[in-house]
Amino acid sequence: MLSPQQAVAEILARIEGLVAEETVPIATAVGRVLAEEVVSDIDLPPFDRSAMDGYAVRAADLPGGAEGPPGGERTLPIVGESRAGEPFRGRVPEGTCIAIYTGAEVPPDCDAVVMVEETERRNGDVTIRARPSAGQHIAPRGQDLRVGLGVLTPGHRLRAADLSVLASVGCDPVPVYRRPRAAILTTGDELLPPSQRPGPGQIREGNTLHLAAMVAAAGAEPRNLGIVRDDPAELERSLATALEDCDVLLTTGGVSMGRYDLVGEVLERLGVEPVFHKVAIKPGKPIWFGMRGRQPVFALPGNPVSCLVGHEVFVRPALARMGGASAAEVQPEERLARWNGSETVPNRREQYVPSLLLQGRDGHVLVEPVRWNGSGDVVGLSRSSALAVIPADRSVARGELVRYLPLA
Ligand code: AMP
Ligand code: MG
Repeated sequence: MLSPQQAVAEILARIEGLVAEETVPIATAVGRVLAEEVVSDIDLPPFDRSAMDGYAVRAADLPGGAEGPPGGERTLPIVGESRAGEPFRGRVPEGTCIAIYTGAEVPPDCDAVVMVEETERRNGDVTIRARPSAGQHIAPRGQDLRVGLGVLTPGHRLRAADLSVLASVGCDPVPVYRRPRAAILTTGDELLPPSQRPGPGQIREGNTLHLAAMVAAAGAEPRNLGIVRDDPAELERSLATALEDCDVLLTTGGVSMGRYDLVGEVLERLGVEPVFHKVAIKPGKPIWFGMRGRQPVFALPGNPVSCLVGHEVFVRPALARMGGASAAEVQPEERLARWNGSETVPNRREQYVPSLLLQGRDGHVLVEPVRWNGSGDVVGLSRSSALAVIPADRSVARGELVRYLPLA
């Protein structure tokens, strides 16, 4: 049986980015993956900008120390005003100043701004108590970014703060990769949609909703095709239709060893080449993965926690790769926390344990298993904020560092 790491390698070896690009307005770009380098068309700030309300001066007119005037004050005539959106256009002769406001352009004759709090205005003059240094309270043109330089690179998933950058450099619309379209369906004669009340032997199904939400959070576009019966003909029809109109197919249920676990064989009949069936992971062992041309197919087990683990460990990196995300997003750095449960019993399979992340008293992050009753327990699952990863074939004692996957 493959280890989870081997299985991820098998998956990523077969999956390429979709490549297709589109443009979207800045307002809808958050969460999308940049497809091209963003280059600035201007300097940022675009002009020498005042960071304060006050007076723009020549620092040399207000010398400090022994060169300064007795009493430490000097009065300068105010020859104009520069405000945001309306710069001062004239000269500022030696021994004079202008009034200036936050965000306004500092005229080339001036090299410092004195805060209004350090001044006193009387008629057309201002008395200045401060001894400014050259450059004080001025954000010089091009300090943050120079025209022609790149600021965001392809593969970067846009965050809220990036929208300000895109806006500042005039990148609208934004070139992004197309989102992978993920078709999602679940199989099982016992399954009902949430609106119905279960009869004997029936349960309401939540996997497709859970998967769709996780897929959307991973930057893909989910399409929930709902429930399919454990009937070979119906399954074949539904899977064939689903495969026609998606970049990646996700199913849950019907991949164990039971008589009614038909998904793998039906997928093979539809031309999906099997890559592996079963991974040494707990829960989630019966996962089936195959490719139909460039189209990956993940058949996850039906137990809700198995389905979640299958998504987090195998599907998420695949969606990131398909969507053109950076290597750091496809395979993020490991996160570690101290195990805050009792000593674990060694298992042949790597275990993923629904857990809570806590702040320990000594400042360390703790990962503590929640009370749950196995891979069908959605109530226990909803109390968790992470999956703690217990390595195969060894036990972990309280306080030892373990890897964890945060849950959104
Ligand atoms: P299976 O993988 O089809 O053998 O299903 C394993 C367990 O998960 C069974 O108890 C199923 O009833 C349950 N199950 C299957 N699909 C779903 C689903 N979509 N939502 C919730 N539970 C499910
Ligand atoms: Mg089933």
